[in-house]
Amino acid sequence: MQFNHIANAAVPAASGRTLPVIDPSTGEPYDDIPRSGPEDIDAAVRAARACFEGPWSRLSPAERGRLLLRLSLKIAEHAEELAAIEQRDCGKPTKQARSDAAALARHFEVYGGAADTLCGETVPSTNGTSVLTWREPHGVTGHIIPWNYPMQIFGRSVGGALAAGNCCVVKPAEDACLSLLRVAELAAEVGFPPGAINIVTGYGHEVGDALARHPGIDHISFTGSPRVGTLIQQAAAERHCPVTLELGGKSPQILFADADLDDALPYLINAIVQNAGQTCSAGSRVLIDSLIYEPLLERLGAAFERLRVGPAAMDLDCGPLIRQSQLQRVWDFLSDAQAAGIPMVAQGRVVESAPEGGYYQAPTLLRDVPVMHRLAQEEVFGPVLAAMPFHDEDEAVALANATPFGLVAGVWTRDGARQLRMARRVRAGQVFVNNYGAGGGVELPFGGVKSSGHGREKGFEALYGFTTLKTVAIHHG
Ligand code: NAP
Ligand code: MG
Repeated sequence: MQFNHIANAAVPAASGRTLPVIDPSTGEPYDDIPRSGPEDIDAAVRAARACFEGPWSRLSPAERGRLLLRLSLKIAEHAEELAAIEQRDCGKPTKQARSDAAALARHFEVYGGAADTLCGETVPSTNGTSVLTWREPHGVTGHIIPWNYPMQIFGRSVGGALAAGNCCVVKPAEDACLSLLRVAELAAEVGFPPGAINIVTGYGHEVGDALARHPGIDHISFTGSPRVGTLIQQAAAERHCPVTLELGGKSPQILFADADLDDALPYLINAIVQNAGQTCSAGSRVLIDSLIYEPLLERLGAAFERLRVGPAAMDLDCGPLIRQSQLQRVWDFLSDAQAAGIPMVAQGRVVESAPEGGYYQAPTLLRDVPVMHRLAQEEVFGPVLAAMPFHDEDEAVALANATPFGLVAGVWTRDGARQLRMARRVRAGQVFVNNYGAGGGVELPFGGVKSSGHGREKGFEALYGFTTLKTVAIHHG
C-alpha cells in the first residue's frame, strides 16, 4: 500500500479510497495508491505554503543548492532500486529505466549547482535613482506529470522549481506514481524540510483538476496531452496563474540525399522505439529526399523487422505500452492507416514468451503517409513511424511545418549552409543536426512552439520560468 507524501509524512487519501497499480508487462495489479481528492490537494498546498513562508525561505540559495546536490547523490545511490520500481510500474526495459534514474540524479545535480547563480541586473538610470531587478520564486508551484518519463520530468520540473526557491505540489499520472513517492522519501532523508516536496496521487480529472484550480498555487508546470493542456490553461486563466505547457509533438526527421545514412539509421530507429514510442519528442515522422526514398525505406524496413518487444525485464528494443487504452489508441491509428490504404513497410515482433495480459505493440513502419492524414498530424504515442518523400528543400520545410506541433526536429545533411537554413526555417523548440535527442540533454532548454506548448524546462533557462522578476527603484538623490 502506497501513501501520499505531504509535509514529509505518509498519508492516505482523506476519503480512504485507493486505485490499483498495474504492471504493464502482465496487466496484473500488484499494489495500491491513494485515490485522492481536492481535500488532499488542499492539505498539500497548505504544507507547501507553510514551508515556503518558513524554513525554505530562510535557507540561502547555496544551502538550497546543497540540499539538491545531496538528493542527487542519494538518488544515484538508490538508482538501481528506483529503476526497478519504474520498470515494474511503467514497463520500461532495464536500460531505459536506468537511464531515467540517472537523468533524475543529473537534474538535481545541475539545478543544485545552479541554485546560487541566479542573478538579477542593475538597470542604468538617472536622477539619483538606482534600479535593480531581483529573480524571486513564485511561491508554491504545481507540477502535473505524465506517465511516460515520471522520473525525468519530475527532475526537470521539480528540480528547477526548488532551485529557484519554490515549494512544490506534485500530481503524478495515476499509472506512474511509485518512483516519485520513493524519491520524496529520499528527499526527506537528506533533509528537505516538511512541505518542500509534496506528492498527491489520483486521477487527473479529480486531483489534477483540483491542483490546477487551487488558489494557493502560484505557477503550474504541465506535461501531457494538448487536450488537458487546454483545460489547465483555462483553469489557470481564471486567476491569472502562469503556466508552462509541454504538450508533445509530431517531430520530423528530415533526410537529404547527401546525409550519412550509416550515422542516421540508429538515431532514426531509436527516436521512435525508445520507451515504445511514448516520448513527447519521438521522431515519429521521417521525411526523405525522393532520391534516397526507396533505398532508405529498404534499410529502415530491415531494421524494423529485427526489433523485438517483450516484458520490461527482458530489456528488449521495446517493452509494453503503459496501459490497455494506450494500446487501443495505437490500434485505432493502425486500422485507420489500413482503411486509407497506407502501405506498411515492416513490423517488428512481440516475443512468444510475452504474457497475454501485457500491452505489447510491434514497432511499425508506414510509407507514403499523406500529409493531412491523422498519422502525419497527431501524436500516436506508440512505436509507429510515418515516412513520406520530398523533392526539394522548400517541400521539406513545408512538410516539416505542416502539423499543429513544433517540439523537436532532426536534420540530416553534410551541407553546412543547408544545415543552418533548415535550422532557421523549421518551426520547433529544438533542432538537431546530424544527431537527435543529444543524450537526454539535461542542460539543453526544452519546450515547444504552436500546440507543443510554451515555456522552457531543462537547462538554466528553466530557472527564469520558475521565478518572477521584481524591479526595485531606490531614489537616493
Ligand atoms: P494526459 O491525460 O494529458 O495526462 C497528463 C497528466 O495530466 C497526468 O498526470 C494526468 O493524470 C493529468 N490529467 C488528466 N486529466 C486532467 C485534468 N482534467 N486536469 C488536470 N490534470 C489532468 O495524457 P495521457 O492520458 O496520459 O495521454 C494521452 C496522450 O497525451 C498521449 O497519447 C500523448 O499523445 C499525450 N502525452 C504527451 C506527453 C508529453 O510528454 N508531451 C506525455 C504523456 C502523454 P492521470 O493520468 O492520473 O489521469
Ligand atoms: Mg503502472
